[in-house]
Amino acid sequence: MGNAVPEIEFFDAGVLVSVLTTEPLGRCLDYKAPEGGCMSGAFVEVPLGPRKVLGVVWGPGEGGYDLAKIRPVIRVLDAAPMREDMRSFLIRVADYTLTPMPAMLRLATRAPGLGDPPGPRRVYRKGWAEPDRITDARGRVLDILDEYGGAAFTMSELAALSGVTTSVIKGLAKLGALAEEEAPRDLPFPPLNPDLGGKDLADDQAAAAAQLRAGVASGRYGTTLLKGVTGSGKTEVYLEAVAECLAKGRQALVLLPEIALTAEFLSRVEERFGGHPGEWHSGVTQTERRRLWRMAGEGNVGLVVGARSALFLPFRDLGLIVVDEEHDTAYKQEDGVLYNARDMAVLRASLCDAQVVLASATPCLETWANAEAGKYGRIDLTSRFGVAELPEMRAVDMRGETLAPNRWIGQTLAAGISDRIGRSEQALLFLNRRGFAPVTICRACGHQIGCDQCDARMVEHRFLKRLMCHQCGETKPMPEVCPSCDAKDRLAPVGPGVERLAEEVAARFPEARVAVLSSDLFGSARALKEKIREIAAGGADIIIGTQLVAKGHNFPLLTLVGVIDADLGLQGSDLRAAERTFQLIRQVSGRAGRADKPGVALLQTYQPEHGVIRAILSGDEEAFWRAEAEERRAAGVPPYGRLAGIVLSSPDVAQVFDFGAELARRDAPLRRVGAQVFGPAPAPVARVRGRHRVRLLVKAAKGVALQPALAEWVGQFKLPNNLRLSIDIDPQSFY
Ligand code: ADP
Ligand code: ZN
Repeated sequence: MGNAVPEIEFFDAGVLVSVLTTEPLGRCLDYKAPEGGCMSGAFVEVPLGPRKVLGVVWGPGEGGYDLAKIRPVIRVLDAAPMREDMRSFLIRVADYTLTPMPAMLRLATRAPGLGDPPGPRRVYRKGWAEPDRITDARGRVLDILDEYGGAAFTMSELAALSGVTTSVIKGLAKLGALAEEEAPRDLPFPPLNPDLGGKDLADDQAAAAAQLRAGVASGRYGTTLLKGVTGSGKTEVYLEAVAECLAKGRQALVLLPEIALTAEFLSRVEERFGGHPGEWHSGVTQTERRRLWRMAGEGNVGLVVGARSALFLPFRDLGLIVVDEEHDTAYKQEDGVLYNARDMAVLRASLCDAQVVLASATPCLETWANAEAGKYGRIDLTSRFGVAELPEMRAVDMRGETLAPNRWIGQTLAAGISDRIGRSEQALLFLNRRGFAPVTICRACGHQIGCDQCDARMVEHRFLKRLMCHQCGETKPMPEVCPSCDAKDRLAPVGPGVERLAEEVAARFPEARVAVLSSDLFGSARALKEKIREIAAGGADIIIGTQLVAKGHNFPLLTLVGVIDADLGLQGSDLRAAERTFQLIRQVSGRAGRADKPGVALLQTYQPEHGVIRAILSGDEEAFWRAEAEERRAAGVPPYGRLAGIVLSSPDVAQVFDFGAELARRDAPLRRVGAQVFGPAPAPVARVRGRHRVRLLVKAAKGVALQPALAEWVGQFKLPNNLRLSIDIDPQSFY
């Protein structure tokens, strides 16, 4: 398929048009324009064999077939046609990520029922009556209604969400416990008021806001790094840019990494603009998805708050994209279309004259380097708003502490914790390991329990009473005897996870109230939110958490952060190991002392002289970034060189290695552009879900047109049936 930028055209009935469908065909198909004609960009339904499929009119048909056999477009859908800048965007992302266009179109139409007529539909919301008797199923329906506070659902949606049959819902409706009504589909979102709830900004905040506002007002493309310590008011400042965008009558998009956790953010938006923004994430109902998709296209939603795929909504006039916590790894989609939403946000904005704000306390090195090079603007907020101060950071040299076996909290940290409990303040212990223990070993034969499907060790989750593979999610009960030598009662946990740390805490601080925050311990995002609210209100003395706690929660009573193992992230061979450790520990430490009480962060480490640990402690961030940048420049790796990761996988281990070797051997198309290929080597996780995995790494200089060379290179081969090949441009993870 020629990925050329399309022009807008009108096609009269019967004229041949070329239609891009969501089917994996590798090319557009010709159809006759329907009665009444159609525009290029129109969403249409077309016949494909016996089926009807979704497509977009891409341009004039190619012809060359028997005209009599070509079928007409079935109908044009009632949706705003795909705009030119959106079509260019999809093409550019496809070219960049080496993704076929049908997969791009699927990504851009992830809303159900796009072809449905706009008529009214029957919906249900909470009724006036209490049911005569509450069964389990009825209780679940009522819980869901409470959870979504006031929302209305179609019958099938409500049944699916609460896991009951439709007869339960009909029964409740009959009793008056559910109210039935006819509602129009796809209501526009109420307009937001840009002038409503702005706060009085401190001087540096006001200057930052003015700069961002000016960018938005210019109506031109530009990207700005908004770098500010946690609590400095970045959110407050970029909401000013959103206000400017709304005032100009354009649309704004705020991307967030862990959307499920943003109740606090949504209420801030509501306070600021007097209404709900559109929400786009996995927790949104199908009906709401469809509504938002359509309203984005019609320009009837001013602000969208969403997870990374919101970037592919068909905005009518997008004027601003904010990428909050821009360093977060969640912005990289790791399966299907392998794109990085942060980078693609910059691309999209450049195509529609929009501004981008990349907000972070700890930006990724790529962004830092782009700002250094003058490609991005940069604004710094250096102090916390109001009286809140940054925590004092100290290393605890673990070589000088005595630890009993299977204990991980040294005396220094323990003393700090006791101290906080005595003052009715909170302490947070950070350990980035879910579960009870990372390894289960047989003390008789040394066997370590692994996953049957993957080349990974099973992690004991005592709370769930199971072993779990963190690679594929497979679980099994803890065996009674060693699977290798049959010895009884000799299996023992090795190393700490948050659950085991909780045991240590319970033993050492029996009087303290302990809360464990780990993603696997909560059934729903709602339960987690509730817990976080409870903790913030003082409902725990000691909080034990994984990476989950690093995200922007606000715990006003928290004055001590203990990093149990600051060395944990430093061991990997990952390109970004240092950067990630630096970011994560700074983020977690930033949780301490957010209100009027100063905080302390203690980092337990066996290598206090390590460069990364020293950089974290000294607070001289620019020095850290410069050193890290120098190392990457010397190694010729991103952002000073280009990388592409190739992963091959197959159930057949010989096949996957042979194919990998063949790829590496026939590398002429790569060599022509000066790119080098490394591998094949077994991937760090060499087997996942029964498939053997082999990696190759392609490395090129910065200015090289790598994608066409990669396409030509893999295009030389026909893939065997069982074998999967994926290409990851700018890989983030190397598993
Ligand atoms: P960041 O996004 O940098 O972590 P926030 O914007 O969330 O910072 O601000 C941290 C806290 O300080 C929030 O509770 C916010 O409402 C408050 N805050 C920041 N700036 C102001 C201001 N100018 N006036 C009042 N409150 C502010
Ligand atoms: Zn597994």
